[in-house]
Amino acid sequence: MTRSVMWFRRDLRTVDQPALAAAARTGQVVPLFVLDPALLGSAGTVRRDRLLASLRALDAACSGALVVRTGDPVAVVPALAAELGAAAVHVTGEPSPYGRRRDAKVREALHAKHIDWAVTGTPYAVGPGRVTKADGTPYRVFTPFSRAWRDHGWHSPARDVRVRWARGVDTEPLPGDGPTAASPGSPDERVGYPAGQAAARQRWQQFRDDALAGYDTGRDRPDLDGTSRMSVYLKFGEVHPRTLLADLVRPGRSMSAAEQRYVTELCWREFYADVLWHQPGSAWADLHPIAMDYAEPDYAEPDADFDRWQAGRTGFPMVDAGMRQLAAQGWMHNRLRMITASFLVKHLHVWWPHGARHFLNLLADGDIASNNHGWQWVAGTGTDAAPYFRIFNPVTQGKRFDPSGDYVRRWIPELAHLAGAAAHEPWKHPDGYSGGYPERMLDLAEQRQEALRRYQNR
Ligand SMILES: Cc1cc2nc3c(=O)[nH]c(=O)nc-3n(C[C@H](O)[C@H](O)[C@H](O)COP(=O)(O)OP(=O)(O)OC[C@H]3O[C@@H](n4cnc5c(N)ncnc54)[C@H](O)[C@@H]3O)c2cc1C
Repeated sequence: MTRSVMWFRRDLRTVDQPALAAAARTGQVVPLFVLDPALLGSAGTVRRDRLLASLRALDAACSGALVVRTGDPVAVVPALAAELGAAAVHVTGEPSPYGRRRDAKVREALHAKHIDWAVTGTPYAVGPGRVTKADGTPYRVFTPFSRAWRDHGWHSPARDVRVRWARGVDTEPLPGDGPTAASPGSPDERVGYPAGQAAARQRWQQFRDDALAGYDTGRDRPDLDGTSRMSVYLKFGEVHPRTLLADLVRPGRSMSAAEQRYVTELCWREFYADVLWHQPGSAWADLHPIAMDYAEPDYAEPDADFDRWQAGRTGFPMVDAGMRQLAAQGWMHNRLRMITASFLVKHLHVWWPHGARHFLNLLADGDIASNNHGWQWVAGTGTDAAPYFRIFNPVTQGKRFDPSGDYVRRWIPELAHLAGAAAHEPWKHPDGYSGGYPERMLDLAEQRQEALRRYQNR
């Protein structure tokens, strides 16, 4: 019987999975995941553990047939496919710069062994590079892109197929496998929600039924459970955006303002992937340098101040709560990502890639396109960027978006004794520092002026 390899990467699911369906139509399927040291090396423990939990869930969905190998996929995949006598290697297309380079080499090595390389779909509703202006050039601004993206449309979710899994292929144990390893369905305390396609579906349904109606206002409140928490599931491909969109965008169905807002947020993910597709260099270089003279960069080098930011000890409760949540859970609310990133770039004057790298290492949903372009948005160097003179004040932001102070108290036990919004301004209370919370490391107004001076000098 014909055998093919289904090489899973950012698509760790068996439902709504067109690449797997394509493999299954040809005969027996060997499900493969390669632990690539080049990718795992930069992943912090939370993301690494989350990946392993996702792989356990995927293995269960593949009836225990998942084959795991460690090494450079350029060597591992062709060698395994040849050893198994596979006719083809099936994948979901990978549009990131690293993935494109890697896949080109794997395809070439397979070709030399007369093994087919079959690409079906991407991790996006509309594949990056597909939406262009009438003259074929890419969109540089979000709103027209989002209109064209909706006009372009996307496929309905793929039908389930019966897969004949190949058994008996040697596999490596997953790191940490054994009696202490978390089971795929158990709640993952650190990331907040359990791994796997079933858990993704469950969380989506819960959000859709309980919180989506209030999303257009609730999405800005880190003290509430007002966002979908789909980012980690989307990162690992435990759910495809098409599956979520199918619940909201249907012919003849009108969407509420909150639903439209949610679709727009999913579109930001697609837009950033599209920008990266057209300009792979934008991962680490400014898309729009603000008349910046790189011969004389006007940025501070990461130093002890950077360490205080990373550790959540700046003395500004909203910044510190966000950074501590990031370290503990590998996730942060969007509002906190903006506030903490702005503090680093505009109050500590550190170049955004230093912060972006730290986020990427720690975030369970760490995604080069959304993260690095999100940082560029904050720094004022990206597409649709916040203008350079918009500088978030973390205290004002805290009082506005965490009015009860619940969010900061959850992450900063040293402020537990301050009731309500008082937790945002310990310096205003005689016993504000009695819990051992650090004093403010800088003067916000002074550093705001300094940021403006640096930006204007460029
Ligand atoms: C500095 C910075 C870094 C970021 N890094 C990442 C990252 O590494 N990975 C990541 O997935 N998102 C990143 N984001 C975007 C956003 O913060 C997260 O997607 C969101 O907080 C995830 O929570 P959620 O799934 O509950 O979001 P929801 O509000 O429920 O949104 C639904 C989905 O829409 C997409 N989305 C929402 N907002 C954005 C956005 N601004 N840009 C791109 N996609 C968006 C995500 O896929 C998200 O899961 C970053 C934003 C900033 C400002």
